[in-house]
Amino acid sequence: MELPRIIANWKMEGTSESLSTWVKEVAERVPKKIQKHCLFCPPACYLSLTSDLFKKHEVEILLGSQNLDSDNNKPLTGGISASMLSDLGCKFVIVGHSERRLFFREDEEILSSKIYSALKNGLMVIYCVGENREEKNFGKSKEKILEQLKILKDLKKDSILIAYEPVWAIGTGESAEKKDINEMHELIKKSLSDSNTRDEVYVAYGGSLDVNNSESILGSDYVDGLLIGGASLDANKFCNIAQKS
Ligand code: PEP
Repeated sequence: MELPRIIANWKMEGTSESLSTWVKEVAERVPKKIQKHCLFCPPACYLSLTSDLFKKHEVEILLGSQNLDSDNNKPLTGGISASMLSDLGCKFVIVGHSERRLFFREDEEILSSKIYSALKNGLMVIYCVGENREEKNFGKSKEKILEQLKILKDLKKDSILIAYEPVWAIGTGESAEKKDINEMHELIKKSLSDSNTRDEVYVAYGGSLDVNNSESILGSDYVDGLLIGGASLDANKFCNIAQKS
């Protein structure tokens, strides 16, 4: 399985109708070779439909979830476990997105438990890290990222991908500078490198990516992939970005 160069995160957006239109357009416009290194993370309620639409249109894009619940807390009304996600065809799951850290108060203990459940069930984890505006302004970005990476310390890293997503860049239209992205990715790769890892730690960038900046950021030395929120909802934008990846 190829690691994703393009990751689409639809967040809490979309309808069954918009999803059907999106999949149809992507199937027609994005070559199979490129589809194989794209990952799509729709809302959990549309995972099944997405899987069916991918089959119908012979789409080879990988399927991922935006979230999971740890299997430590059974019984859990409304919960979605890693094994359920696997059953639906997911290969990846996003953990630690800043919106979940902030609005769902997901702390290190919760995130560690989610990562553990995901790995135990064979899912690859996309672990998001990123500093907020205040931390950036006070020169604390690197410190914050290294702090967030600590929960991965004792884990085998083969199935863990990192997404560097500065919180101030998410959904704001203000992407980080290429030079700063590279510097942060290099720091992440160095800090996680140990004998357990594959050749190199994978780090994707996310935060206000669009058609105008994606190709150039993906071409940076230390950028392995892109995590795209808002722009990925628009099939035309997604296709344009994917075609250049
Ligand atoms: C995201 O949701 O992870 C994200 C990067 O969003 P956006 O591309 O809209 O900034």
